Amino acid sequence: MRFTDIARNEWCFKMVYLDNAATVPLLPSVRKAMHETEEKLFANASALHTPGHLAMNKIEECRAVLAELIGAEPNEIIFTSGATESNNTVIRTFEGHQIECSPLEHHSIFEATRVYKGNKLPKLYSYMLYNNETGEKLEFPILDNESFLHSDLTQALGKVEINVNRLGLDYATFSAHKIGGPIGVGALYVRSGVPFKPLLIGGNQEHKRRGGTYNTVGIAGFLAALEYVRDNKTWEIYDESIRKLRDTLANHILAKIPGSSLNTDVRRGRSLPNILNVSFKAAEGESIQLYLDSEGIIVSTGSACAAGDIKPSHVLMAKTGDAEIAHSSIRFSFGLDNTMADVERVMEVLPGVIDRLQKISTIKRS
Ligand code: PMP
Repeated sequence: MRFTDIARNEWCFKMVYLDNAATVPLLPSVRKAMHETEEKLFANASALHTPGHLAMNKIEECRAVLAELIGAEPNEIIFTSGATESNNTVIRTFEGHQIECSPLEHHSIFEATRVYKGNKLPKLYSYMLYNNETGEKLEFPILDNESFLHSDLTQALGKVEINVNRLGLDYATFSAHKIGGPIGVGALYVRSGVPFKPLLIGGNQEHKRRGGTYNTVGIAGFLAALEYVRDNKTWEIYDESIRKLRDTLANHILAKIPGSSLNTDVRRGRSLPNILNVSFKAAEGESIQLYLDSEGIIVSTGSACAAGDIKPSHVLMAKTGDAEIAHSSIRFSFGLDNTMADVERVMEVLPGVIDRLQKISTIKRS
């Protein structure tokens, strides 16, 4: 178990971490790669001297591995500070143009679309392949000749096989920390020849597509995480073992907890294999989260980016139209470290937590 070194373990008998859709703990190989890069590849990767070249080689290695993993060409990959920047960059490219996003998009798409959309053609569609709160699969719209398609593949990378050509994408977003890499590094796939406007200007990096000194250490960490995904074919592990954990938890919850209903369609092909979103009638999501936290079980209510926001999740509202369901939802998101013992531990604690909350609620549970 990788969590033994963190402070909370002093009072947690054993942490059960089920918030992998928010972030995945660093893989040991990532930590090692980052330490080595920090020591040896410290130079500015744009510099013409030898240490600069060595740093740039590492960056190009990462670009090549990501490109191969998603069926793209290396020059179609731009490194960014994460999925938020990648998403903002694509939407900003279409400033003043028609932009349509699905109602289930991450705020970095949703808000940017609200700010930048206009009336001009061509039109951009932005549809994520899998939603981060419920894990559900979305259908892409059918495009005409004057339209472009972007997909936020942040949650999909490593969980399913990805090929940008087969998906028909012009742009795609990725983030390192959802696959065991560091926070603050991401990438944007931009198909050759499609419109592009840099978000960060004032530097020649990334062929003038993204200014700013290269984050060599972060990109080296991203590379190690991508190699882990590629070498272990992690999408196969998710499809087999992790799906079993998720489905077992879903079945136990439905069988043993009155007033529970799934917000995730767990049928194969309908959702990511590692996300389970559940509502518990007459129990408030934040209260469930805190009770579970005090037992060392780490989950989230909807997306972490919306935590502290008293408005119900826009994703669950779009799906159910029911604020009560949205307020009573919990997301369990599994990672490669989880085992059936974690599911058992959740089922030891969760029924009692929900029962206690439902008893003090003024809303009836059934
Ligand atoms: N898009 C989706 C679908 C996400 O799940 C997240 C992370 N919550 C982001 C974008 C933002 O990612 P980052 O932290 O790399 O900016």
